[in-house]
Order: sequence, then C-alpha cells, then structure tokens
Amino acid sequence: MKKLSEKEILDRWRLDESGCKIYTGSIHPRGYGVVCVNRSLVYAHRYFYEKHKGSIPDKMLVRHLCHNKKCVNPDHLEIGTQADNMKDMVDAGRQAKGMKIAKDRLGDDNPAAKVSWLDVERIKKLRLMGLKLKQISEVYELSEGTISNICSGKTWSKRANGRYECREVDLS
Ligand SMILES: [Zn+2]
Repeated sequence: MKKLSEKEILDRWRLDESGCKIYTGSIHPRGYGVVCVNRSLVYAHRYFYEKHKGSIPDKMLVRHLCHNKKCVNPDHLEIGTQADNMKDMVDAGRQAKGMKIAKDRLGDDNPAAKVSWLDVERIKKLRLMGLKLKQISEVYELSEGTISNICSGKTWSKRANGRYECREVDLS
C-alpha cells in the first residue's frame, strides 16, 4: 500500500445517491475500507471517525447508521457496543426480508404464545423456501427447537377454519 498523507486519505471517497461517502481506497475482505497507518491496518470508518469526531473509547465500536460498510461519512458513524451492532443486524435482517413479526399477534387466543398464526404461516413458508432452522430462529428470536416444532406441526396445527391452534403453552 502506498504511503499517503492524512489529507490524501481523508479525500478518498465519493458521494453516492444516499449521501454515503464511499471509501475509494482498499477494501478489506470483510467489506470495510482499510487504511494503512504506521504499517498497521486500520478500518477506514474508524480512521475517519477519529479524524473528524475525536478518539474512540476503549473496546467500543464505530457503527454505521447507514449499514453501508464502505461508508466513511462521519455523520453516518456512531460509537456503540457489540450488542448494539448485533441488534442492528437482526433489525436490518427483518426489514430486508420483509418479515417483521406482526405486532398485534393476530389470531392468538393464548396470551402465553410468542408467535401468531401469521408468524406460523411465514415460518413454514421460510422453511419451504429452504431457510435453515437457525436462520429462522435468529429472525424470530425463538429457539431452533420451537421453529422445528412449528414446522412439523407439533406445536401449532391448523384448524378446520384455517386458523392455527396452539397445543402447548410454553413456547420458549
Ligand atoms: Zn453512509
């Protein structure tokens, strides 16, 4: 990697249509931009954050509010924890797949149930589409065993009127 001045590094971006400043230097296999500083690799978004907004506290991450790993726009970056990041990823996954869990829990006569019949339909459909139990369980925050039971009809079964009936109260 060619040695660049700080100014040269901070100029390495192009604006995209969503307002992200896309880093135009080297990209790490994990998808983040990288900068070579004193012979070590630093993530470009962390470098830009420090230069524009100040130092990053120990063990803290610089998160992308825009979910664009190559973005170095300081306005799109925020200090956060690993837990914040995981939560973001789960939320983003739900939105991307259009599978937000029905808030009103349609069809639930059982207050202890964690999934609605609509969720059951969706979970079964996702399974038919070939998604792994693990992937579905992450999106719905249910155990793989619960997802497996839903798919096999052990926990929920369809009534003659087309609605699902919960056979077990404990779905945890
Ligand atoms: Zn951005």
